[in-house]
Parts: sequence; structure tokens; C-alpha cells
Amino acid sequence: MGKTGTTSDDFDRWFVGLTPYYVTSVWWGYDKAYGEGGHSLERWSSSGRTNIPVNVWKYLMEQVQADLPVKQFPDMPEGVEIKQACAVTGDLLGPGCTSSMESYYTPTAVPQICSGSHLSPEEQAALIEQQLALEAAAAAAAA
Ligand SMILES: [Zn+2]
Repeated sequence: MGKTGTTSDDFDRWFVGLTPYYVTSVWWGYDKAYGEGGHSLERWSSSGRTNIPVNVWKYLMEQVQADLPVKQFPDMPEGVEIKQACAVTGDLLGPGCTSSMESYYTPTAVPQICSGSHLSPEEQAALIEQQLALEAAAAAAAA
């Protein structure tokens, strides 16, 4: 299991992967972005070779673990909760969040609901207006 990453200027990539034995990261790219005297990985992307760190990681782990017995990940510890989180802030998914991810929390480490701080002022205003309208409708229905 693992996760890929890239910089917004497309000058490097990485992959962090884990097995029941190891957590390993592979970084691949240039130290600087194109505009800062570095290079872009665009030519690699256009050639379809976008998963180089993933392939390097896979090859590495096949070599490193070749003689190890097959092992399963342990079961999830008791009390851990799976919740949807905002992919921008890492807080719990809020009404204005547009990108989410599945996250795991112990009961004492559950974060607050995302405030939408990553939204533009216009989007935040629209969200507040939408929430006020919902509250008004709920109050009218209760009356
Ligand atoms: Zn959010």
C-alpha cells in the first residue's frame, strides 16, 4: 500500500509505500523547479513514464523482501475510527470541502470539522449563506 506525490511545478515525484515489514519512500526528480534553474519532468510524463518512483519502490521491495515469509498487516486496533477528512486541511470533512480522504483516528485524536479556510472569500460567504438558509428552514419546520 502506498501514496504518490508530486510538486506543483512538476520537477519531482515521490512514492511512500509500506509493507508489513517496511515503510519506504522513493524520491525522483530535480532539486529545483524549471523557473529556478531546474528542469521539468513533463517530458517523462508525456512519454507515459509517470510512475518511475512506484516502479523503483516495487523493484526495491521485491529484492529486499525476497527471502522473507509472507506476512499480513495486523488488524486495526480496537477503538480506531474511520472518518472522511478534508484533503486540504486534514480536519474532518466540512460542508465546503471539495476533496476528501479516508482517515483513521483514535477517539482522543479526532480533529475539528474543517472551517473551509481553504475556500476563497466568495466561496466562504456563499457557504455561510447556505448554512444560514438551512438553519432558517430547520427553525421554520420546527415552529
Ligand atoms: Zn476543507
